[in-house]
Amino acid sequence: MDDHAIVLNAGSSSLKFSIYRRPEAANRGGGASAPFWALDLRGQIDGIGTSPRFTAKDGSDARVADDRLDAGLDGRGAFDALASWLRARYGGDARVLGVGHRVVHGGAKYARPTVVTPEVLVDLRALVPLAPLHQPYNLAAIDAVSERLPGVPQVACFDTSFHRGQPAVAEVVPLPRDLCRGGVQRYGFHGLSYEYIASVLPQAAPEIAHGRVIVAHLGSGASLCAMKDRKSMDSTLGFTALDGLCMGTRPGSIDPGVILHLVQTLGLSAKDLETVLYKKSGLLGISGVSNDMRNLLDSSEPDARLAVDYFVYQAAKQIGALAAVLGGVDGLVFTAGIGENSAEIRKRICAASAWLGIDLDEEANRARGPRISRPASRVSAWVIPTNEELIIARHTGMLLGLLGTVPRV
Ligand code: ADP
Repeated sequence: MDDHAIVLNAGSSSLKFSIYRRPEAANRGGGASAPFWALDLRGQIDGIGTSPRFTAKDGSDARVADDRLDAGLDGRGAFDALASWLRARYGGDARVLGVGHRVVHGGAKYARPTVVTPEVLVDLRALVPLAPLHQPYNLAAIDAVSERLPGVPQVACFDTSFHRGQPAVAEVVPLPRDLCRGGVQRYGFHGLSYEYIASVLPQAAPEIAHGRVIVAHLGSGASLCAMKDRKSMDSTLGFTALDGLCMGTRPGSIDPGVILHLVQTLGLSAKDLETVLYKKSGLLGISGVSNDMRNLLDSSEPDARLAVDYFVYQAAKQIGALAAVLGGVDGLVFTAGIGENSAEIRKRICAASAWLGIDLDEEANRARGPRISRPASRVSAWVIPTNEELIIARHTGMLLGLLGTVPRV
């Protein structure tokens, strides 16, 4: 029977998964460390809550599923759909050795991936209010696996871990110290994506890998990370995933006085505020029509244009701030949904950052790079697709003693 390791990245509207497989022959030949693991499947159920769709590709990138699912499907239903599809595909020929999960918030305590125990789950549930858009779904995935595969070890990999080790000054929340006890500090997020980019920089962009690099993770959540020699020095997300850049439905940095105004003058409750800040602001709030960059770029509505202008403006402004943190920049890397797919947004951010010494090669930019700056550009620019699932797979393999397992790309 072949061995399998599963990676799950469960969000509010999507459930992404990867399956790694080690054939039985390899298992017999080399024990737990036999280096024969390979990506077997990668896919997702997206549109949960609206129009759910199941797509999957096998290890050679051939499509093996593309199905519309029942519109009423909720998060739990998505697990059921995935579990029965996997059962049908693998039959009885699958032994699951471990499951790795993306968990957005590890708080101050979890600076590294960790094997999930009941005690760990108590700690992680306490962090739900700090990441209401992600943490409940990440933990629901752990619960769903415990129910269906009792006894299979699970590993939680945190979006905050990569940033631990930042200089103390980058972690400060400048409020009275007694109010900050209990974990009020800047954490930073998208760490699994940044860790992946840091891991491939020596191959993908060797001339900047050990220098000063700003990575722009621009997806429905968006942030920047300032790296020196592939280590996080600072990032634009802080205590929660609300700070920094303008995002699909989150505002990024705003004057905290606005929050006081919403509470004191407009009478919003804490729950109303949470909904406004996590679900109604950012690109959606400004444009009034969409949180999807594709729709906004296609629109001629003035507010849609303003939303795109603000997104680019904030990105360029905060690239400038992180350039100051690093004392100069050697390279700028774009990744995630918008960063990987939108030549227009990359072009506009690079144009707004030309003063730093970025000279964009428009043809390379349209072709998605990987290098998108001209050879003589003082600061180079790059597109590097992220792969958070691979980082989770590596950590899961390492922690469960399946090392040698999950391939490098
Ligand atoms: P997440 O994983 O946080 O859901 P992704 O990294 O998948 O986010 O990014 C999703 C976003 O990427 C979408 O909301 C969409 O706005 C944007 N996106 C994807 N493709 C394109 C494109 N071709 N042009 C502009 N934006 C795009």
